[in-house]
Amino acid sequence: MSKPRRLEGKVAIITGAASGIGEAAAKLFVENGAFVVVADIQEELGLKVVASIAGPDVDRAIYKYCDVTVEKQVEETVAFAIEKYGTLDIMFSNAGIMSSWESILDMDMEEGFDRTMAVNLRGPALCIKHAARAMVKRQVRGSIICTASIASVLGGLCPIAYNTSKHGLVGLVRSAASELGKHGIRVNCVSPYIVATPQSISWMSSAMGINNASGSEVELLASSAANMKGVALKAKHVAEAALFLASDESSVYISGHNLVVDGGFTVVDNSIAMLMETQIK
Ligand code: NAD
Repeated sequence: MSKPRRLEGKVAIITGAASGIGEAAAKLFVENGAFVVVADIQEELGLKVVASIAGPDVDRAIYKYCDVTVEKQVEETVAFAIEKYGTLDIMFSNAGIMSSWESILDMDMEEGFDRTMAVNLRGPALCIKHAARAMVKRQVRGSIICTASIASVLGGLCPIAYNTSKHGLVGLVRSAASELGKHGIRVNCVSPYIVATPQSISWMSSAMGINNASGSEVELLASSAANMKGVALKAKHVAEAALFLASDESSVYISGHNLVVDGGFTVVDNSIAMLMETQIK
């Protein structure tokens, strides 16, 4: 028996869908019956993703160039989805960048801080604004999801600009959920632990001083610090959390959440237990 399709006929925009978590979400959403606009600044990769997921049903997915820092492009992407597919049910604001590791004492405010905020916080604000405007106008009880991070919960895990942007994103999601509830629009976050994607691979390579670490090296390192042992977090697992938030399974009352996908990493601290264990020995 075939699995039920959980987004049958829904229209979604996914930003940052040319790679990593966004790419996995685009595949999963289409497999579940959605029509997907793959919105990204990497045109060649975006077109490849569309070709690989749409298959014979070429209309299921389409690429649109969209730099989330540019309001006009976000607005045009929403208009494009509506023109192409007739409505907008889901905005998955997933595009994000990592900042470089630097001390607050000598942080580069333009290239480091402002650029990270522009993509990771202003970008989602624009996505929420324009998706919600379209949903309110059409009386669509839509779902908006943003990709935050475990860096939205704890300090010190990632570079300071990135950490700050992801904390801010949770505030943005909660505030938007508060205002949009009266329109039946839900707004939530997914917050992944480390997943081997081009972003994390390049960041961890430079942090560890390794030239081009492999995906499996990043997974090994992530696993050694993880709470959940014996399994590596993959982009598909994060996409599955986004699918739940996008689908009718979460449609009645789930809004304003930060769904942390981290195997318990941010809610356990074994340091005291480990200290006691070493003292007893
Ligand atoms: P990725 O590099 O594979 O994908 C990010 C995508 O965003 C790329 O395709 C890139 O072209 C796109 N992008 C970057 N700037 C953009 C812009 N201005 N406008 C439009 N698109 C833009 O990385 P990923 O790991 O899949 O990242 C997806 C999201 O997940 C990000 O928000 C990231 O911060 C978050 N995240 C990743 C991890 C991880 O370990 N990989 C962990 C927690 C959170």
